[in-house]
Amino acid sequence: MESGLGLHDEVVAVWPLAGFDKTLHYRASGKLAETIAEGCLVRVPIGRRFVLGVVVEIGATADVDYSKLKLVSQLCYDEPILTRELLELAEWIRAYYGSSRELVLETMIPASVRRGMSPKKVRFVSLRREASDEELGRLEKRAPKQKALYDFLSQQIRPQNKGLILKRLDHSPATYNGLLEKGFVKEETRIEERTAYDDEIGSLEYVEEKSIELNDEQRVAVESLRKELAKGGFATHLLYGVTGSGKTEVYLQAMESALNRDQGVLYLVPEVALTPQTVGRIRARLARLGDIDAVVWHSHLSDGERLDGWMALSSGRARVVVGARSAVFAPIRNLGLVIVDEEHEPAFKQDETPRYHGRDVAIYRGFLSKSLCILGSATPSLETYRNAIKGKYSVDRLTKRVDERSLPMMHIVDMRQEIARARKPTQLSRMLVDKLKERFERKEQSILFLNRRGFSASMLCQECGHVEACDRCSVPVTYHRSDETLKCHLCGAEAAAPMVCPSCRSPRIRWKGMGTQRIENAVMKILPNAKVVRVDADTMSRKHLFRQILGDFRSGRIDILVGTQMIAKGLDYPNVTLVGLVDADLSLHIPDFRANERTFQLLVQVSGRAGRGDLAGEVVVQSCTPHADPIQFARHGDVEAFLRMELENRERFQYPPFRRLIRQVLRGPNPDKVAFFAEQFAKQVEKRLEGIVEIRGPVPCPIEKIKDNYRFQNWYFTANVAPVMGVLRKIAREIAWPADVVQVLDADPMMLS
Ligand code: ADP
Ligand code: ZN
Ligand code: ZN
Repeated sequence: MESGLGLHDEVVAVWPLAGFDKTLHYRASGKLAETIAEGCLVRVPIGRRFVLGVVVEIGATADVDYSKLKLVSQLCYDEPILTRELLELAEWIRAYYGSSRELVLETMIPASVRRGMSPKKVRFVSLRREASDEELGRLEKRAPKQKALYDFLSQQIRPQNKGLILKRLDHSPATYNGLLEKGFVKEETRIEERTAYDDEIGSLEYVEEKSIELNDEQRVAVESLRKELAKGGFATHLLYGVTGSGKTEVYLQAMESALNRDQGVLYLVPEVALTPQTVGRIRARLARLGDIDAVVWHSHLSDGERLDGWMALSSGRARVVVGARSAVFAPIRNLGLVIVDEEHEPAFKQDETPRYHGRDVAIYRGFLSKSLCILGSATPSLETYRNAIKGKYSVDRLTKRVDERSLPMMHIVDMRQEIARARKPTQLSRMLVDKLKERFERKEQSILFLNRRGFSASMLCQECGHVEACDRCSVPVTYHRSDETLKCHLCGAEAAAPMVCPSCRSPRIRWKGMGTQRIENAVMKILPNAKVVRVDADTMSRKHLFRQILGDFRSGRIDILVGTQMIAKGLDYPNVTLVGLVDADLSLHIPDFRANERTFQLLVQVSGRAGRGDLAGEVVVQSCTPHADPIQFARHGDVEAFLRMELENRERFQYPPFRRLIRQVLRGPNPDKVAFFAEQFAKQVEKRLEGIVEIRGPVPCPIEKIKDNYRFQNWYFTANVAPVMGVLRKIAREIAWPADVVQVLDADPMMLS
């Protein structure tokens, strides 16, 4: 026996949340030693401070001097707040996305949990035993109020919050105590759950479940998923189904199977798709399955809700989490099924450190927990599509819309001709104007989408549609007002900006897109009596306002909705028969190798919003480059052909998914200094990783300056992210770093601005 270590003591390894990435050892003694477990949140001494930390290992390690170990001072919760698999996941994120451990843990664990906030405990009551007929009769005669309370409790599946039922049903404590004394009810202390499950988001629209009979394709898909669940082990399936093909029903049935096997379920959707409709449907299904709790996880939760949701999952009381990106870290027990709906959505990528991709983290978590992962999409990302082609993922296909309706008719308007005819810049084409008027007269609704993906300063000719691009990188070059040049943001090639179109000599070259406000005004001018409402990023962030607008739109109080593609998700209103995409070019001609992919996804998604009810839908797409591939493939609804073509494009230039990319952005107030340092950094990388990475840069970022900081980028292409990320971070620690230059490293970047 080592000195200082008591008989029942445990030595534990802890990751302290103290601003450095080290594992420290402590001693747990007494009662604490009995309860402490891997994943527990503890308070430990460091020097003269006490800090929070997570227990990562229990049991003595040989090279520790036990006599010098300090004691764990407090166990914050009885239950572990992280599982073994989440601890491993944290390490993976740290290495892959290049972040400190502390930042990763802060991202994973909600602040209210990390602060050791205590859950609110309240009394819950339920029936202890059934009363006999005789007892019931007596109760009825002598204590009718007690009988009423008894009847209520006998109908409940779960224990009820005591305070709440007495108040809501207007019972006195005396009535309650009467029942208690007779031994009919039992009381227990439970954590009050402030989960959003019962919040407005869930209760706003409780979906009445019609019982659904699966069609043949759905049945085949569900069977294939069930087989995979039965087999056990890690596997990934792409559920590749057109909009309206009933993917959600397939997820729900897979979820049922997993729950029947006593497994936990992680169900991820993009934040904007987390609508009351989605949540309502899942809720209704869980209600049918019986006493299964789900936690809804999104960015508007309060601290208390986060804490309660977290504890409900970590204690195993809730087994399902439905949520946006950060739900991927929820402490689900015995995870068996991971669902990522709309897997192609760039919104799954977090845009601050750690810059993780929710889908990719979900898959890695699925791997660690030996789960089945289902990725669903109508327009799979190229990354996923390639994995499917390579056989890494299995594919389940849904080719038909459930209601057998065909996809809406898509019209492409050539804006070059419109502009030539009008002899001035034009926002709305004649076709779009006519169709808007027609819908208004027929009391049908329209949505106008404005493409805001662009930060477009590329050169687009409004006469011939020519877009000036870099020969070497196959992305559009961008215009720089400061020195009147066109630059390639990948290789740095630079030329004087032309005064006329290099292709047709027209002076009508355009540099910028238009805003939602201008579209709204244009619509109001042509239809002064229509009710037009605009939704932008600002409106979206105010959840009540956004909900009210959606409510008004659903009830028909709004005729025309104008917004960015953010509102394309989850809008599913049967009276919408016209969808207009005002400026398809804006996402197309930007220096981003995913521009085609994004534009194609947007077109398909947007057209899925038209004609979902009994009325046929139409889509009008306006573009100065109507023959561009994404537009033509989308018009024919040919997803597969688009993906094949785009995969070839990517391969030709060895862009992702053929290689991985790490993007480094360096910024600072002095452009020369930033550029010089970016170059020094790249040279160091070249020296240490020659043959392992291919470097592009340094070059100015497409958005050259933000808040008086000049931005430069280096791109590192590689086959293997984590080791390269490790070296980049090592260089960053060792290199002499100028005081006013800041860097961001982004693995698998989605935003290239
Ligand atoms: P997706 O997610 O593929 O776009 P959804 O799952 O939202 O499609 O399904 C579209 C609509 O069809 C939903 O209202 C859903 O309830 C309904 N639905 C799904 N499967 C069936 C089915 N087999 N029979 C009838 N209706 C179905
Ligand atoms: Zn031209
Ligand atoms: Zn180039």
